[in-house]
Amino acid sequence: MRKKIRKICPICGAETEKLYDNLCRECYVKSKEFLKIKDTIEAQVCKDCLKYLRKNSWKFVSENYEEVLEELTYALIEDNIKVKEIENSVAEIEILEIDPYNNFCRANVRIYGKIDDIEYKEEKEVEIKVKLVQCKDCARKARGYYESILQIRGANKEELEEIKRVIYENIKNFSREDSKAFVSKEERLKEGLNFYMGSKKVARKIANILKKKYNAVINESKKLYGLKDGKEVYRYTISVRLPKFRIGDILEKDGKYYQIIGISNDIVQLQSIENEEKIKMNLRDVENSRIAAKIENLPKAVVISKNEKLKEVQLMDLERFNTYTIKGEFDINEEVKIFKAGKKIFAIKQR
Ligand SMILES: [Zn+2]
Ligand SMILES: [Zn+2]
Repeated sequence: MRKKIRKICPICGAETEKLYDNLCRECYVKSKEFLKIKDTIEAQVCKDCLKYLRKNSWKFVSENYEEVLEELTYALIEDNIKVKEIENSVAEIEILEIDPYNNFCRANVRIYGKIDDIEYKEEKEVEIKVKLVQCKDCARKARGYYESILQIRGANKEELEEIKRVIYENIKNFSREDSKAFVSKEERLKEGLNFYMGSKKVARKIANILKKKYNAVINESKKLYGLKDGKEVYRYTISVRLPKFRIGDILEKDGKYYQIIGISNDIVQLQSIENEEKIKMNLRDVENSRIAAKIENLPKAVVISKNEKLKEVQLMDLERFNTYTIKGEFDINEEVKIFKAGKKIFAIKQR
């Protein structure tokens, strides 16, 4: 007769065919911790730019702090989770609480798996404590770090405001990829604005955007600033100069007057103010010509009547209410500008 061995679990007393570490399957699973994760994970978020630190690099998620907290909770739990001894286990993270006022999050971590046909599930609660700090780049910016100065020259007040908006919009976009895309200082001078920029590359990109938008001329110069790791470090000055004229302005050429009606690719289109003649000129030639009048400085007038036969209109200027009769084709009630050259008076279309 063969001797039969009866195996009994010392914890629950159950009879079993096979023991795992001297326990039945159920007690073995209960006695083990497969899911390893800290109860509390510390996170760091930059108080200025809301990037969070993940594996030594600062990650941008959103400008919304709650969204940042959500994302970092998932990411930091993923980075800290360790599952032992179970093959093909599945982990699940469920956020229980996001508290932006107390810089705190709470989540449940669950793993599912199988050991010898026993379904296995383990669950742990993890707390994320967020410390608000200043990231490397924001600290740099706060110290006034800069690689280049972007100078804006030749712009009027409204244009300066618009340029400022364009610059900061682009800084925001570039900052997703370039951590030095920031302005550490802004300087308002009589001749324009200076932006001290953390990144030379970004300053150049923005200068090119402004060049296209305003037909500006760019000049770059550099100055030796110091040595870093044996290499010469330069600071760059990138000047963006807007042309002295704008669309609508009146230019004098060979005793005749033209209105600037378009600029593209360094070519300026001009329209005679006396007849149908249209000409083209190089941007540089226009820069060197005499601007007879800036459109914004000319007095306003309105067309009050029209003589189709004589191709004449009657204008009334809106400052002194004088009336003039001039040659030209305009619509009744159309607002125009008045330009005087010697004794001649011209009505100029607003552009
Ligand atoms: Zn047992
Ligand atoms: Zn930052």
